[in-house]
Amino acid sequence: MDSRYGRARSLLERHYGFPDFRPAQAPVVRSVLAGHDVLAVLPTGGGKSVCFQVPALASDALCLVVSPLISLMQDQVGGALSRGIAAAAFHSGLDDATAGQTMAAASRGALRLLYTSPERLPRVARALQAAGRPPALLAVDEAHCISEWGHDFRREFRTIGAVRDAMGWPQTVALTGSATPAVRRDIVDVLGLGRTAGRQLREHVASFDRANLWFGVERIRSEPERAVVLRRLLTRGQSAIVYAPTRKSVEAIALLLRQTGHAAAPYHAGLEPDDRHDILDRFLTDHLSVVVATSAFGMGIDKPGVRAVVHWAMPPTPEAYYQEAGRAGRDGRAAVCTLLARPGDAALHRRQLTVTFPARRLLEALWSGRQDPSRVPPSIRESAERLRQELGPGCGTAGWTRVARRRQAAEHRIRTMERYAMRRRCRRRQLLAWFGEELTACAGCDRCSPRGRPGPP
Ligand code: ADP
Ligand code: MG
Repeated sequence: MDSRYGRARSLLERHYGFPDFRPAQAPVVRSVLAGHDVLAVLPTGGGKSVCFQVPALASDALCLVVSPLISLMQDQVGGALSRGIAAAAFHSGLDDATAGQTMAAASRGALRLLYTSPERLPRVARALQAAGRPPALLAVDEAHCISEWGHDFRREFRTIGAVRDAMGWPQTVALTGSATPAVRRDIVDVLGLGRTAGRQLREHVASFDRANLWFGVERIRSEPERAVVLRRLLTRGQSAIVYAPTRKSVEAIALLLRQTGHAAAPYHAGLEPDDRHDILDRFLTDHLSVVVATSAFGMGIDKPGVRAVVHWAMPPTPEAYYQEAGRAGRDGRAAVCTLLARPGDAALHRRQLTVTFPARRLLEALWSGRQDPSRVPPSIRESAERLRQELGPGCGTAGWTRVARRRQAAEHRIRTMERYAMRRRCRRRQLLAWFGEELTACAGCDRCSPRGRPGPP
């Protein structure tokens, strides 16, 4: 075992240039090398990729990776290739020729890592079985997508368990950056981790506490006050991210900051891809100090020296807040995370819930044709279609109960964020409690220690 771990360390050094595994990675890597099924919960930026990529390198066989988004796959494959790891992705965005070449390479055993979506997984699994090259390891990245109680449920993720069964229960590692205890149980159940004889389940949950981050909330009394407070929080020339809820607000805030002498730019999904790339590039190379962004700004942002993350208004979930705020201080140095909060900020998210989960009566009227769809907003039509596919025609009470519970879970997240903003309690304790972690001492928040003097009171 230790010689295998030693070999993994030298692969880490050779391919990634890192001298050692991080303290939270080491036990995960050991468990994977020992052949167990593993659930690894490490905060975003904690280094989850290495936990399956290095064992894949060490094993000389294929690691099949399930990932929710094509952009994530491309990011990871690009990173792996640049490190000299034979990697590819198989997804719906490939032309037939490339798809064929990719599967041929995997079937010949020429790949160490093959990324795919849950939708394509059954097909990939069958092709690998037929080629006599079943994967040695299955990695499920962003595994919280499995759970209806997670903040990012993806129905197709629930089928991975059945594919595991069809593949003869390959060793599996599930990874996520945000799983509450209920979501963790769900991941283990749905994937059937540790269910095979002779293989145990090992759960590794790293601490989510980031001692160098200071957390604060600024109470806002009127809309114009947001801009005043924001300007006070930003220091010219310092790297910062400002998150705002809509494209329009992002544009307006970026303009305002530029007018007051900040090198700022907007970032949202409505921009041309070239412009987005350019903004990201200038931010990463310090030619731009402030990015004002919607939640679309996230993937692949791993800039070490961000000193402040300000939220113009509350995000809908503690997961989103902690992940976005956590883009501050990746270099380990002190950084400040501030949420601007005005009573009523949650209303936007509650309205969104009525779009994501339309009333049952409206849905049934739409499905039966009693309701003219052209009189319903497109966003609601989209939700109706999504739920129709999920629940199927003539679905029973169980289906509706499930959807109702999912909506309740989303409401609970909004309430949790409201309480975070409004309660006069240690911010860090509240955030970490959401992830099932009990804090013994706060390393700095507006309730426990004044700004600029991080450390326990
Ligand atoms: P996650 O998936 O947990 O959000 P990533 O796998 O994307 O995190 O890794 C986050 C960053 O940490 C990357 O820049 C990665 O190169 C870096 N990293 C991972 N492992 C180590 C290590 N052992 N030493 C130093 N840096 C590491
Ligand atoms: Mg990751």
